[in-house]
Parts: sequence; structure tokens; C-alpha cells
Amino acid sequence: MSTHYDVIVIGGGPAGYPAAIRAAQNKLSVACIDEWQNFDGSYAFGGTCLNAGCIPSKALLESSELFQRAQHEFATHGIQVGEVKLDLAAMQRRRAAIVKTMTGGILAVFKSNGVVGIQGHGRLLAGNQVEVTAPDGTKTLISAKDVVLASGSTPIRLKTVPHDGKFIVDSWNALEFDAVPKRLGVIGAGVIGLELGSVWRRLGSEVTVLEAMDQFLAVADQTIAKEAQRHFKKQGLDIKLGAKVSSAAVAGDLVNVVYVDKQGEHTLQVDKLIVAVGRRPFTEGLLAADSGVELDARGFIQVDEHCRTSVPHVWAVGDVVRGPMLAHKGKEEGVMVADLIAGLFAEVNYKVVPSVIYTAPEIAWVGQTEEQVKAGGRAYKVGSFPFAASGRARAMEAGQGMAKIISASDDDEILGIHVIGPMAGELIAEAVLAMEYSASTEDLQRTIHAHPTLSEALHEAALAVDKRAIDAINR
Ligand code: FAD
Ligand code: AMP
Repeated sequence: MSTHYDVIVIGGGPAGYPAAIRAAQNKLSVACIDEWQNFDGSYAFGGTCLNAGCIPSKALLESSELFQRAQHEFATHGIQVGEVKLDLAAMQRRRAAIVKTMTGGILAVFKSNGVVGIQGHGRLLAGNQVEVTAPDGTKTLISAKDVVLASGSTPIRLKTVPHDGKFIVDSWNALEFDAVPKRLGVIGAGVIGLELGSVWRRLGSEVTVLEAMDQFLAVADQTIAKEAQRHFKKQGLDIKLGAKVSSAAVAGDLVNVVYVDKQGEHTLQVDKLIVAVGRRPFTEGLLAADSGVELDARGFIQVDEHCRTSVPHVWAVGDVVRGPMLAHKGKEEGVMVADLIAGLFAEVNYKVVPSVIYTAPEIAWVGQTEEQVKAGGRAYKVGSFPFAASGRARAMEAGQGMAKIISASDDDEILGIHVIGPMAGELIAEAVLAMEYSASTEDLQRTIHAHPTLSEALHEAALAVDKRAIDAINR
């Protein structure tokens, strides 16, 4: 192992590994250090996203959705099948195999770009020196002109809800259940709670989601949130709003969950309890006392809009810095930093970071919600189009939800696009591109969309902004 590099990246998740690859593409010598260890003791690059987040959750969401459709939808298509049986072990083997292939892929890309991947713990010392502790405990000192910190985040734990990894679990444990819990409790109706609740509901659990806030999906446009809430209720997800969990305790093979709502205190008995109350930045053991890197009041590494920390030539990207905790946001920051280090122009447009919730129907948005636009005081127009009027959605037996576009009354600039419906997470890419190029709704109106596709819903929603939709009644 060499002892000096142009760039050292600490953390090999979706923020760190792209930073390493782009730095190598910029002809810099690069090492990327990562300490991720799986439950079976194996080490793997890819961080939370590939090992315990985005990818395994999407694998299970897809499998559970197919299970659900085979049971309840095939007959509508005229397909008669016998009894549909769940083989959870096979489903979990598929999930694990996908994760293994994807994390292995990072090593292959590292190799082809000449990135040195180091498995172990990295600690930033003063003067851009990094102490590496290998899995066997051996310590080595390496240094670099630039260091990128990408140590990610970790689930928030509640003191009064003691995690044991068996009955009271986090999102990672919940992706690796080897049996379907009969009764499942979820604390937190955020993105992770809703996705995991959906997986296990579809596979047969009775799911109760306890959410402290009175408003459902407060981060989303409320027209979309209301529509989502209706669908989740129909699917049997029991979402209790204004229900703040105060404590939980394991008793034998059960968990007693105490929560408080307007009516008073209640106890819910479940077989497993998932704590999904958010994530916090992870900086444990990352910074020596004299590294000079400053954290903000909430424990995030303090950075400017270009991800520069308080120390020259030390950068920080991804979940460990401010902004949405999303893999694609971290990736763009990693790539930006690697380009800036190489002296190239780079920036991240934080105004157009898309959000996706991979439930059924999917929910996706970019830009401002109608509530935010209203609060900002700018006059606006809204157009929406229901998937019930989309031929393709109907053909897919997925005519639920809508696309909604908000644009400025003065110059027609698109301010926000919100979709709930089939493949919303894919459809939102067009919205992101439109907003990245500061498109107006007229630009979308004049863009040809293939027929019959789901994307026509965005076209029609843009037309509806000016009450000129063709395939739906203009209101
Ligand atoms: P991480 O992915 O957390 O990676 C950090 C890496 O650094 C880890 O491997 C860690 O072990 C390592 N590390 C930390 N400290 C050190 C050190 N000192 N030395 C060496 N290594 C270190 N986001 C999406 O955009 N889409 C989704 O669909 C999505 N689904 C999710 C589902 C779940 C269940 C969860 C939990 C998260 C999901 N996320 C999703 C969020 C996404 O996983 C994170 O935003 C993303 O992983 C952040 O990337 P990161 O590189 O900043 O950090
Ligand atoms: P997110 O931050 O999007 O992952 O969502 C986490 C959710 O958990 C938020 O909507 C919080 O309101 C909710 N939450 C946090 N603590 C509690 C608690 N003690 N009881 C119920 N819900 C909680």
C-alpha cells in the first residue's frame, strides 16, 4: 500500500465511492477506505445504500409487490394460478444475491479506474494524515493532498425503546427478517417506515405505523399525501397519526409499545417493532481531536455549498453533511468535489433533488410543494392529470394517482412537479431534467410524449395548467 495519494476518501457509500472513481478519472491517485461489515462478518463497499438501504429494500419491495399481485390481480388479467405460496427464504436469498453483485461491482469499477480500495477504519488526523486501522487491528498512516469525508449516517435510536436487534429492530434488521411477523409495529411514518411497512404488510403482517405528527407525510405536497394515505389505508396499513411512542419493552416473545395520542396512553402488542424515526450523521471515531474539522449543532460536518469543511483541502459529502439524506444527492456531491479538487468547474443544483417513496403507488416529486409555493407568496397555477385517464396505466391495471404540476403565473416557470402513481420514480426524471433546464410548462406542453406511455400524464398535467388538457376534463 502506498503511503501518499492525491486524494483519500473515507467512506465507500454512494457519496464516497463516486468521489473516488471521479477523482481517478481526473488522473489523480486515489484510495477509498471503508469499514462496512455485514451481519455475516464479510466486508463490502457500497455503504448503507447498497448493503442495508436503497437496494435491498427495493429488492424486497419488488418481490412483495409481485406476491401481492399474483394473489389479488392475476385473476383480473384472466390468469388463473393455484394457491400462491410465499418462500421467504428464497426471496431473501435473491435480495442478498443482488446486494452481493452490486457491492462486488464497485470493486470491479475501482479496479478498472485504478482506485485503491482499503477495508478498515479511517481517522483524519491533523495535516491531512489518515490513520487506517485494518480489520486485524494493524494501524498504518497514509496522507493525501485532499481528503474527502463520506462517513454517512446511522439510524436514530430511542432511549426508551431499547434496540435488541431481534424484537426491537432498525431498518437493516427489518430487511433481513427470516419469518413474517404476525403483528408488526413501525415507529415513524417517514419514507423508510412506509416502505418497510409495505413490504411486510404485503407478505402478510398486520402492520401498525405509529407517527408522532398529526399531518401525514408533511414533507410531501398535501394533495399527494392525502391520496397516498387513502391507498395505504385500503392496503391495510394501520397508520395512527398524532401517536407518539413513549416507551417499548420486550416481554417474552412480544413487544409492548406504549404510545400517547389525544385520547391518552395506549399499549400496542406486536411480535416485532421497527424503529424508523430518522437517521443521524455518523462521525464516531472519524476525527482526531486536532483535525480542525467542525461539526454543526446537529452533529453534521459543517460545509459550504461546495462541500468544503473548515479545514483547507478537507471536504465532506453525503449523509454526513446538511441536506436530504439521499444516495443521489451524495453521489452528485462526491462527483462535484472530485472535479473541484482537479480544478474543474462543478456545482450541485440543490433546488432540483428528486425525492421518491417506493410504495405502491409510488410517490415522487421535485421542487416546491403547493404549500411551499403558497407560503412564498408567488402567484401560481396548478394542473393535474389522473392516471385513471391514462390508457397505459389502465393497461397495467395501475390507474391510480395523478401527476401535478405547479408553475408561476407570471413567467410560467415550473416550480414543482409531484407524481403519485405507477413508476412515479422513473417519471420524475423528466421533471428533474425540465427543471434543471428552467423549463416552462409550455416547454413540456410542446414536447412530444410517446403514446401510450405513463409519461403522457406529465404532458397532460402541463396542458392542464392552462386548462388545455386533451384527455381529461379541465377544471
Ligand atoms: P453511507 O451509505 O452510510 O456510507 C458511509 C460508509 O462509510 C459506510 O460504509 C460506513 O461503514 C463507512 N464509514 C463510516 N465511517 C468510517 C470510517 N471512519 N472509516 C471507514 N469507513 C467509514 N436513499 C435513496 O436515495 N433512495 C432510496 O431508495 C433509499 N432507500 C433507503 C432505504 C433504507 C432502509 C435506508 C436505511 C436508507 C435509504 N436511503 C435511500 C438513504 C441512503 O441509503 C443514504 O442516503 C446513502 O446511503 C448515503 O450515502 P453516504 O455515502 O453518505 O453514506
Ligand atoms: P424520517 O425522518 O422521514 O425518516 O421520518 C421519521 C418519522 O418518525 C418522523 O415523521 C417523526 O415524526 C417520527 N417519529 C419520531 N419519533 C417518534 C416517536 N417517538 N413516536 C412516533 N413517531 C416518531
